[in-house]
Amino acid sequence: MKYCLFTLLAGGLLLFSSCNNKGENYDRIIRNGIVYDGSGAPGIRADIGIRNDTIAFIGDLSGASATEETDAAGQALAPGFIDTHSHHAGNPFSHRDFTAVLSQGITSIIIGQDGGSNFPLASFYQQLTDTPVAVNIGSYSGHNTIRDSILGKDFKRAASAAETEKMKTLLLQDMEAGALGLSTGLEYDPGIYSAREEVLALTKIIAPYNGRYISHIRSEDRYFWNAIDEIINVGKTTGVPVQVSHIKLAMHNLWGKADSLLAIMDQARKEGVQITSDIYPYAFWHSTIRVLFPDRNFSNEKEADMILRDITLPEDIILAAYEINPAYEGKTLAAIAALENKTPARMLVELIARIEAWEKSHNDECRESIMATSMAETDITRLMQWPYANICSDGSSSGRHPRGHGAFPRVLAKYTREEKALTLAQAIYKMTGLAATNLAIEKRGFLRTGYFADIVLFNPDTVKDLATVEEPHALSEGILQVWVNGQSVYLTKKHSGLFPGQLIKRK
Ligand SMILES: [Zn+2]
Repeated sequence: MKYCLFTLLAGGLLLFSSCNNKGENYDRIIRNGIVYDGSGAPGIRADIGIRNDTIAFIGDLSGASATEETDAAGQALAPGFIDTHSHHAGNPFSHRDFTAVLSQGITSIIIGQDGGSNFPLASFYQQLTDTPVAVNIGSYSGHNTIRDSILGKDFKRAASAAETEKMKTLLLQDMEAGALGLSTGLEYDPGIYSAREEVLALTKIIAPYNGRYISHIRSEDRYFWNAIDEIINVGKTTGVPVQVSHIKLAMHNLWGKADSLLAIMDQARKEGVQITSDIYPYAFWHSTIRVLFPDRNFSNEKEADMILRDITLPEDIILAAYEINPAYEGKTLAAIAALENKTPARMLVELIARIEAWEKSHNDECRESIMATSMAETDITRLMQWPYANICSDGSSSGRHPRGHGAFPRVLAKYTREEKALTLAQAIYKMTGLAATNLAIEKRGFLRTGYFADIVLFNPDTVKDLATVEEPHALSEGILQVWVNGQSVYLTKKHSGLFPGQLIKRK
């Protein structure tokens, strides 16, 4: 009644619209926000009415009431952000609040990336159903996981026809369980040893399921153009939509080639290949130290020299994890080399030799990773502006790369508000509508009647990432409130204690 009275005083037109919904009741109403619907259209002032987990009305709800009301007071309201390449669910049950995710405005994460997934997916999905978490989760089926379970330790070779058949069976089981498609991590073991034919054979069988192919491509540096050719060929041969994961030009002689890359992908699109990409907003990556050596010639000091000259510099590599000697974590390769009085190339080779020796004696995988700067800012901006590139984090909740806590707010702050590489509506589109389109997921990614009520309320003037290399887990500013499936899950920088996350299954 209070709102109706207010609008009575405000004038005739408002009187008409306000009393239109007079007496209507909702579970929740978010009032007075600037609503960006996720399509790239500019924001419009509107109220959102929610019933159960669904958006029931968008417009003027001044005559309606609800059990729970929020005054958005001219702040931005957008669809909950969708992270198309996430590592946040390592063990989702150890941090069901997903604060690292929610604090960025993300409401849905897609896991099973880089060829690694929970296996079999059906049992993981059952666990998630039994013990839901704060965010929505969807997953790909991982090629490396499947390959590993068929080839085991004898993986440094092409798979036989019989082995490929067995892999197909496992992939089909995951597709039946609702996997979004196949993910590969062709720069990693064991996928790096697969022939192109193996990947093609597996991708072909997901086509009838409307599956997608998402790939950490075979090389992001020395063999880059060949790797781009491979993913385009997967799309061309199988007809399956393909997405380049965390697209980057990660070698000095690739810098400035963003336009050439986009021309190749645009040409492929013209020829009918549904190729898209995701991208995160940092010039440094986080991965295994061994990914630097695609030919796995770890003791080759000449190769190490080339890496430290052409891909990343000794002062630009930070050891993020080094189980053998945790005192080295957080230090640069240059600093560690100085400590041991060795050349950086010698040091790099020795660090890996120690990992290999440790793994042999422990019969286990050594916890090791590095962060390395090898991308150029101008390329990041150009690739982010590509109309088919959506935003991802590639982050984790516990990792040392700040992307795990800062990626999405960083796009809104640095690339949108400060550098104006994107408009606010475009940035939101790349985090929501485009992401949902690239993934082919239903009823999310847009603020529309009948869609799930995944919503983020944020201040576009102050939203900002605070996570840094020194403080990677700092929560962002300006993300005011987050709803997942109609439930308020994040407010005043805290998880609300609710776990309304649902499974995201293939269309
Ligand atoms: Zn990756």
